[in-house]
Amino acid sequence: MADRRKSMRPPPPLPTADMPVVVIAGRPNVGKSTLFNRLVGRRQALVADTPGVTRDRKEGVALVRGRYVRLIDTAGLEEAAPESLFGRMRFSSESAVREADLVLFCVDARAGITPADEHFAQWIRRQNRPVLLIANKSEGRLGAASAMEAYALGLGEPLALSAEHGEGVTDLMWEIADRLPAEPEHEAESQTEAEDDFAVEEGEEPPRPTGPLRVAIVGRPNAGKSTLMNALLGEERMITGPEAGLTRDSIAVTLKDGDDTFEIVDTAGLRKKARIDESLEKMSVSAAIEALKMAEVAVLVLDATLGVHEQDLQIARLIEREGRACVLALNKWDAVQDRTATRNAILDRLSISLAQMRGVPVVTFSALTGASIHKLLPAVRDAWTVWNARVPTGALNRWFEEMLERHQPPLVQGRRLKLRYITQVKSRPPTFVIFGTRAEQLPDDYKRYLVNGLRETFDLPGVPIRLQTRGTK
Ligand code: GDP
Ligand code: GDP
Repeated sequence: MADRRKSMRPPPPLPTADMPVVVIAGRPNVGKSTLFNRLVGRRQALVADTPGVTRDRKEGVALVRGRYVRLIDTAGLEEAAPESLFGRMRFSSESAVREADLVLFCVDARAGITPADEHFAQWIRRQNRPVLLIANKSEGRLGAASAMEAYALGLGEPLALSAEHGEGVTDLMWEIADRLPAEPEHEAESQTEAEDDFAVEEGEEPPRPTGPLRVAIVGRPNAGKSTLMNALLGEERMITGPEAGLTRDSIAVTLKDGDDTFEIVDTAGLRKKARIDESLEKMSVSAAIEALKMAEVAVLVLDATLGVHEQDLQIARLIEREGRACVLALNKWDAVQDRTATRNAILDRLSISLAQMRGVPVVTFSALTGASIHKLLPAVRDAWTVWNARVPTGALNRWFEEMLERHQPPLVQGRRLKLRYITQVKSRPPTFVIFGTRAEQLPDDYKRYLVNGLRETFDLPGVPIRLQTRGTK
């Protein structure tokens, strides 16, 4: 089945002059080629452990949120005499960067910032091209923390990514799409500055998806995921790919609901393959991880006749960890006797075990009979909107003051923490930073108090909220 579908993929187009140009730059060995392969979706570049193995610049086409871009992988931007290998490499980077609509400047978050990174960052800044800073090799929690070090380069907020493991690729797509020049004219003004401005006006229009909205359907074996997929697709099955971020064994199916296009990541191939050497339970978790990496919204499917099990919570935690919006789908509603009691029991269990699931949007349906499944995609769309929410800075700080008044931040080592202000640094998922003296010592229970407050006051149900702290002098 999976193989037949794969053969229906259209061939990738050739690069053309009207496509925006995205250039991957950075010193050798930070993972540029790996990122290139990940985005182009085919193995075109040679990846090896030897620094500087990428000699010439490579070019490919990547599909970024419904738009084709020319992706150029430069050789390392290494400072050296022009006649040396590094000098030649820098020469090719220079010409590529000059024609770039966007430069993806990569650093290695594991190695930390090196003098070479600093040097090239300076050089890149002087080129006056829009830059997105990427802290690669940021897999796992540790990686995300060390990614912050890259702030010092003065190229804006680093995007933590793992090109090798695919973590953060969906976010990367968004960040790229946001920075590309408007279609179709290249000279149109870049959106970077407006996007970086935290001072969002009140009453701003809610965002709209610029490409298909990516959905992962996840849940335990037998929850009804395949049945749901088939019910949603009906006869209008359309297979897409190959696209950046999709692994070999996953495909995306596209469907429309009103004006919105949804792309449902199907990891059927992955599930089937894993069945051979893994237990059914374990492999549904690994399929979920894979699907979540590519998705914006996760539909967590539960068999409502069975209530909430540990593995459902495990998958819910994954959704939170990956920072995806969540819609809870209570399936097999046709077979549920006492619907009110069932619904309440499931929601209680979830919100007790997982604070981030509080207020999660719920849809009840029967994938088997098709009853009420039409409610699912609008709920996905709404969850996506919340996930993209930007809270106006003024309102945010008025709220913050109130929260501080109501409960003072606790003493740490006998001294009171001075929290000064809060700002939303990004959406998808909503991410806030609190600045203040020794703010980084803010205890977890106080952070939870603030996160719960944010969720309630600014109506952010069903999305993970990230709260970071940064100490100031
Ligand atoms: P380039 O010289 O910048 O093009 O770097 P490569 O793409 O050739 O990658 C250099 C090395 O880093 C290779 O061994 C990759 O497997 C490894 N690498 C690339 N991306 C990641 C990542 O996200 N995490 C980790 N741990 N290693 C990575
Ligand atoms: P998956 O492993 O999550 O893909 O689950 P399947 O889609 O294969 O469904 C598992 C079983 O549950 C199958 O026997 C389905 O017929 C059944 N099933 C799926 N959806 C419903 C539903 O809405 N109501 C009922 N009664 N059974 C369902």
